[in-house]
Amino acid sequence: MSFGYFWDGFCHFLVCALFVFVFIKARGGRENLTWEMLVGLIIGSSSLFFLPNKLPFLSRSENYYYQFWHYPISDWDILLLGGPWHRFFITHSAIIPTFLLYGPGNRRFALICLGLTIGISSHLAWDAYSSANPLIVFYPKVFYFKGFAAELWLYVNTAALLLVAEVFRRRAATCH
Ligand SMILES: [Zn+2]
Repeated sequence: MSFGYFWDGFCHFLVCALFVFVFIKARGGRENLTWEMLVGLIIGSSSLFFLPNKLPFLSRSENYYYQFWHYPISDWDILLLGGPWHRFFITHSAIIPTFLLYGPGNRRFALICLGLTIGISSHLAWDAYSSANPLIVFYPKVFYFKGFAAELWLYVNTAALLLVAEVFRRRAATCH
């Protein structure tokens, strides 16, 4: 049984908690943490990092699907693309939450997306801060950012995601 993702996941979890705290403080503490937001926050930042990355009683393919609970959405590129490289530009950017802006206009969906967007934002910030030589892959081996350019990509997208989060917050406040 391996817990390889534990510390990385734990750090992502803590940074996410900090982001939510600051986001709520910046709103003058008027925002309540709802279960919908919490679900989004966990999927976006660290997922269920405290679980082992494989369960011995599951088959190989069941373990594959199980790992979608173990890795946050940004790191699903490992599962879906399975290459030797990591940090695909679609999962490590503001693209997915921006796309979700076109989703249903109800409050529940907006709250889940609000959590998800803050979660991914915090995930990217910690990726940028914690990796010695980050890599953002557009097309493996052909088109990628590394080092400072990758770090800049992650920080710019962190900021963009906070703006997207604000759109979801307003939407959650105005719709039912
Ligand atoms: Zn990541």
